[in-house]
Amino acid sequence: MEKLPKLKPGQHVFIAGAAGFLGSHLVDRVLAQGCTVTGADNLHTGRISNLTHLKTDQRFSFVEHDVVTPKDIKADIIFNLACPASPRHYQADPIRSMKTSVFGTLNLLEAAQKSGARFVQASTSEVYGDPLEHPQRESYWGHVNPIGIRACYDEGKRAAETLCFDFHRTVGLDIKVARIFNTYGPRMQPDDGRAVSNFVMQALEGKPLTIYGDGSQTRSFCFVDDLVGGLVALAASPEGVTGPVNMGNPTEFELIELANLVLQLTKSNSNIIHLPLPSDDPKQRRPDIGRAWEMLGWKPNVELQEGLEKTIAFFRAGLNASV
Ligand code: NAD
Ligand code: UDP
Repeated sequence: MEKLPKLKPGQHVFIAGAAGFLGSHLVDRVLAQGCTVTGADNLHTGRISNLTHLKTDQRFSFVEHDVVTPKDIKADIIFNLACPASPRHYQADPIRSMKTSVFGTLNLLEAAQKSGARFVQASTSEVYGDPLEHPQRESYWGHVNPIGIRACYDEGKRAAETLCFDFHRTVGLDIKVARIFNTYGPRMQPDDGRAVSNFVMQALEGKPLTIYGDGSQTRSFCFVDDLVGGLVALAASPEGVTGPVNMGNPTEFELIELANLVLQLTKSNSNIIHLPLPSDDPKQRRPDIGRAWEMLGWKPNVELQEGLEKTIAFFRAGLNASV
């Protein structure tokens, strides 16, 4: 295992979006490094059950809060993960999604400026849109349709990055921006509509796996444990390491390969059906993670099969508990 930068024990960390899939894993990892954590969330797409294992942990507290409303925050580090991430969720109320990204990030940056906190932004590979450069390097400016159905998320996150770098340039705020590529694992919502959760649930329930288009589009899937390791390493890196830094697993799969692997690992008899490809669906996506390796010594370690096995076990346990 690489020697990754670590947080200082005793630091107080504020995590917006703490009840979500990534946020709840991040809370666990930050606590494991000896910090105290305040988790904030409006429970829009997150679940308080993702945090129930911390109920009696004195080092953790939770506050129900919508980041669209300004709030004073006393912390050494503020992470901003508050934003619906699945296309189904962010497209359900696109104006709210845009407000969350733009006003939410602005409010948290202002809070960081007031309290002198370091600020870590969960940005996304979606800033590259449907990329014309492959693999995607941080120097690529992207290919986003600004008026399409994904724009509320893509452009919201692009504006959020702009705000981070403008706070850095104008008032010297200590910022760090991670561009996260498709991440999966336990605590994903079974009905969030993403490829991994859909395929696993469909396979376990004996329903057809729904491939949008011909399944030749590609994604690079990162296991959640790897990803939160990268986020924490970035947060602990020296001041001046601002990013943006790509974080993801560079091994690229066609969606049809993912579906077949899920069928094999679940031993499911489900078949595969093809449905129309949503508009602006990126054709290919693979991170160049050279910068994360050079600056942080970070790279993912969990291969897709191993990560999927853990994810399948999580969804299977949820199904068994509900019968
Ligand atoms: P998620 O939907 O599980 O988590 C988002 C959390 O933010 C939820 O708990 C939700 O309730 C909360 N939230 C939403 N709007 C809010 C608001 N206005 N105020 C307070 N809380 C709010 O999604 P996730 O996959 O855990 O993603 C977390 C972050 O990482 C997001 O910012 C997302 O854009 C980013 N990201 C995720 C991925 C991925 O593959 N999971 C990829 C790229 C970027
Ligand atoms: N996808 C699919 N079937 C599904 C859900 C998603 O074929 O049931 C496709 C989707 O069109 C996209 C890819 O899988 O090409 C990844 O989709 P996801 O929503 O997981 O993430 P994102 O589009 O944000 O990369």
